Amino acid sequence: MLFGASFIHHSTTMGFCSAAKSAIIGSNMNTHQHILIAGAGFGGVRTALQLARSTPYKISIVTDQADFRYYPALYATATGHSYNESIIPLDEIFAEYPNVTIEYDRITQIDTSAKHLTGESGKQYTYDALVMALGVVTNFFGIEGIEKYAYGIKGKSDIADLKAHLHKQIAEKEQLDDNYVIIGGGPTGVELSGAFGAYLAHLAQCHDVTLRSKIHLIEAAPRLLPRMTERTSALVEKRLKDLGVELHLGVKVESETADAVMISGESLNTHTVVWTSGVANNPFFKENSSSFTLAPNGRVQVDAFLQAAPSVYIIGDNAATPYSGLAQTALYDADFVAGNLKRALRQQAPKAYKAKKPPVVIPVGSNWSVVEWGSLVFAGFPGSLLRQTADLIGYQDILPFMKALRLWQSTSHIEEECDDCRAPIEEKNARQVRHG
Ligand SMILES: Cc1cc2nc3c(=O)[nH]c(=O)nc-3n(C[C@H](O)[C@H](O)[C@H](O)COP(=O)(O)OP(=O)(O)OC[C@H]3O[C@@H](n4cnc5c(N)ncnc54)[C@H](O)[C@@H]3O)c2cc1C
Repeated sequence: MLFGASFIHHSTTMGFCSAAKSAIIGSNMNTHQHILIAGAGFGGVRTALQLARSTPYKISIVTDQADFRYYPALYATATGHSYNESIIPLDEIFAEYPNVTIEYDRITQIDTSAKHLTGESGKQYTYDALVMALGVVTNFFGIEGIEKYAYGIKGKSDIADLKAHLHKQIAEKEQLDDNYVIIGGGPTGVELSGAFGAYLAHLAQCHDVTLRSKIHLIEAAPRLLPRMTERTSALVEKRLKDLGVELHLGVKVESETADAVMISGESLNTHTVVWTSGVANNPFFKENSSSFTLAPNGRVQVDAFLQAAPSVYIIGDNAATPYSGLAQTALYDADFVAGNLKRALRQQAPKAYKAKKPPVVIPVGSNWSVVEWGSLVFAGFPGSLLRQTADLIGYQDILPFMKALRLWQSTSHIEEECDDCRAPIEEKNARQVRHG
């Protein structure tokens, strides 16, 4: 029984009882069995930790990156904060778990009959149960020039490229650019736009140039955060305007060159465009489409136990569930699958998945966040406190408490590789330590 849009119906009807009996994770799992996890992001890391902490399963992770990316803080790293805030080495996360093995490889194929994955290296990774959490990839929608000229903030190298470009441009021209353009009015574009003005002010101070630039946020829909409520959009639009961000709503980006971006027939001069707009499901699933059923949005159809094939669980951004696309959903899915794998050890029938809408907290500039929690919407400093708490919980989801706390306490530290910026930053960080 597959579900996507019709998920709630399947998980709450009596049909579940017979499905539960036929679920693969039943009495045949035993303590010697091997759980393979593909991907070490929110879903993969959390599944591994949940199983490593309290089961005797043999656990392996195969992933193409040596770091875990804490995506909610990437916008902050892109605007001057330390890389430590958003890029956490996997070795650090799993230091206390000798029962977790990590293999670095990019998986390219699956054989669900032989129960193994194949990596780019040619190596095969066998499993008794497989949990897949490969995340999404950036989608440029084929817009001319965007892939070539626009910057991104999806990982360490993206951010390093963007920051190197910003510093180099200011150092060479001895002034800021006229326009900085952020494309995409979803959470990432909004967070980045909200922080960009303060970052430019900091760069202007470090490089001793005049602050005179405009920040533009471009969104194709008629309002920002189109997947959230109109009230949330209105609060965020007002906040960004107050911060001096120029909003371009209901307009389409048509192309980009080295010096300009074309927006609904008009050219805007810029040397810095950041693309935060589209995502597409990881191409692995399309490339292995004989093993999966894909929903119209490219995500993988799963049954009431998040299975796409016998003993193959799809979680987080990859799964066609109602709230996929959020870190909290990936964590929730990981807890759900790990919970059923633990139940299997106790010879208990698996539980059925019930999608849960997570609260969303979006920071927009310093000390201000908007919160959408069920029907409750509020914004301002209380939202900001909630976001800080959520970040502490987020770090604690993947790190031991003391490590998480130390990381969380250091999140206002600024880090730049540029020589011109080093001295003023050391002074600023020292001031922050003095004032707590
Ligand atoms: C900039 C940005 C900001 C965000 N901010 C928020 C936020 O504030 N709040 C929120 O709830 N959500 C946020 N999200 C969304 C959230 O990060 C995702 O929903 C979440 O990361 C999904 O978890 P996941 O485990 O499915 O995938 P990911 O966390 O993306 O993990 C995927 C893992 O798979 C690995 N991988 C990919 N392909 C392969 C392969 N072929 N072989 C081996 N390994 C592979 C990757 O390297 C990575 O380790 C943000 C996303 C972005 C891009």
